[in-house]
Amino acid sequence: MSCRVMLRSVFRCLRTNPVSGQRSMSQSSLVGKVAIVTASTDGIGLAAAQALGKRGAHVVVSSRRQANVDKAVALLQSQSIQVTGTTCNVGKGEDREKLVQTTLDQCGGIDILVSNAAVNPFFGNIMDSTEDVWDKILSVNVKSAFLMTKLVVPHMVKRGGGNVVFVSFVAGYQPMQALGPYSVSKTALLGLTRALAPELAHSNIRVNCVAPGVIKTRFSFALWGNEDILDEFKKQLSIKRVGEPEEVGGVIAFLCFEEAFYITGETITVTGGIGCRL
Ligand code: NAP
Repeated sequence: MSCRVMLRSVFRCLRTNPVSGQRSMSQSSLVGKVAIVTASTDGIGLAAAQALGKRGAHVVVSSRRQANVDKAVALLQSQSIQVTGTTCNVGKGEDREKLVQTTLDQCGGIDILVSNAAVNPFFGNIMDSTEDVWDKILSVNVKSAFLMTKLVVPHMVKRGGGNVVFVSFVAGYQPMQALGPYSVSKTALLGLTRALAPELAHSNIRVNCVAPGVIKTRFSFALWGNEDILDEFKKQLSIKRVGEPEEVGGVIAFLCFEEAFYITGETITVTGGIGCRL
């Protein structure tokens, strides 16, 4: 086939196939997609819900407290985002099932899971941490992330594919002093991402992870609320300020776009330039 004939057939295809033309123009659109974001009534989870919702996804927000859910739903609605809200403590099996069932009942399917919930009940020398601390941290931060994934994958398969994004922490690469067990739980999420990606690629499901540095939320107040700790911490940064939740939310949304279609099993650090790996 000559070059001119080939070009003519490509143009004809674009003219007669408006959908393919549209896809190339709006690959970052998530219209028609349904996204569950756990722990999404504040901080990074709320910012991820906003970023996904602004691209057209119907977002399902949740956390432990009804009042927080109501507030987040009202905020997202005021931004013209399609939203469903429900309570869910990710550490409880019946809550995880309710979250998934509510999503199916109200939205008809699931395309995206952002597994964002985490706890940290312990600061101090790792050798002082107790079995209870480890049970709590591993159960909420790691086990629940996997069990949520296990619950949603069959529904993503029914939709022909999907995206899972875990929220780790830069200390998953290099444990932070006084945050040993929590750092180790975040290292486990890097491994979980790598373990799931090849298995779920066959179902057209991509599994990725973000590892933020210190982001200005209530959760990390102990790190950015103290001038001395903050000044010391800033020495590690190229961009000399703590991050904002929106700066992580946008990266999470990107991982769910078609532009990211060849990315899986990957962790993107969002740290203002902390050196944690080559
Ligand atoms: P945040 O602003 O304090 O928000 C925490 C959210 O989680 C709230 O909506 C809270 O609402 C909900 N939540 C807490 N425990 C929950 C549970 N068991 N089940 C369901 N929801 C729960 O926290 P954040 O800083 O955005 O942290 C979010 C994620 O980012 C965590 O995985 C954290 O490890 C990670 N991260 C944060 C930073 C940082 O510097 N902020 C850095 C790296 C990674 P309720 O109280 O209503 O449950």
